Amino acid sequence: VSGGGWLLDTPATGVYLYPDQCEAVVHGLSRALTALLGGHVKQSLRAPPVIARSVIERVEYDKSFPHLLGTVTTRGIASDLVLLPAGCYCVYPLYADARLSAVDEVSVEATCFRQEATAEAGRLRSFRMREFVRLDNDDGCRSWRDRCLDVVCDWLGELGLATETAVASDPFFGSGNRLMRGLQMDQKLKFEVLTTVAPGLTQAVASGNCHKDQFGKLFSITDATGDAAHTACVAFGYERLVLALTHQHGDDLRRWPEPVRKALSLAAAL
Ligand code: ATP
Ligand code: ZN
Repeated sequence: VSGGGWLLDTPATGVYLYPDQCEAVVHGLSRALTALLGGHVKQSLRAPPVIARSVIERVEYDKSFPHLLGTVTTRGIASDLVLLPAGCYCVYPLYADARLSAVDEVSVEATCFRQEATAEAGRLRSFRMREFVRLDNDDGCRSWRDRCLDVVCDWLGELGLATETAVASDPFFGSGNRLMRGLQMDQKLKFEVLTTVAPGLTQAVASGNCHKDQFGKLFSITDATGDAAHTACVAFGYERLVLALTHQHGDDLRRWPEPVRKALSLAAAL
């Protein structure tokens, strides 16, 4: 994808290998995000690339996005696993049937799969996502999401990336459903943070999503008052962030601006 050995092609389109310098930047991004948004996180999790099919059916991802979903079969027979399409789906089952006594935040890092129809730079089939998930009431989720987006745009600016924020619609409510899509746009439930990831190519490197009480209802999670809990998530795509940084600062890591290197805790040797 990118000239200087950042994401290495494999025989499968949209699937890459990550050399050391790429991993050093991913690691730096991960640490920086923990410092930036992890202050109130109660649990920090690393998710495997698969998830119980029952969870994905419960959130109706298989109905909304059958074309993106990868399933695990053995000997031609569908197993109880599918490939994880987004990190936060791992989190809601942890709270199934729980009554929250307070606001909760969870961080999750996951390898995700989506059977994307195209394979331009930054559109991978296997990619890594970092997410922060908040369980709160409606207002609490919305103001947390908005605060996070402000903080994230400032941080990306410090990393030398010019960003734009745009209202979007997404999988959580089924983009196939035009009514829900319009509703989601009107209510500004999803924002994307866009930046240039390759010459002439702008993509979302992060998104901030309010899910209303959708997951609270689906997983019977209630707040302290007994109402269905509301949730929100802020998600980041590591590979797209790496591409944006190499596009902006070049392929030679040693020549990246010192403040950027410092913000990503890059060792002098790299
Ligand atoms: P897009 O509109 O670009 O398809 P999305 O709205 O589906 O993205 P989200 O579901 O909000 O994306 O995922 C959170 C983040 O994960 C995105 O902002 C992006 O940085 C990253 N991401 C999503 N899909 C891919 C992909 N195919 N390849 C690389 N990163 C991705
Ligand atoms: Zn999410």
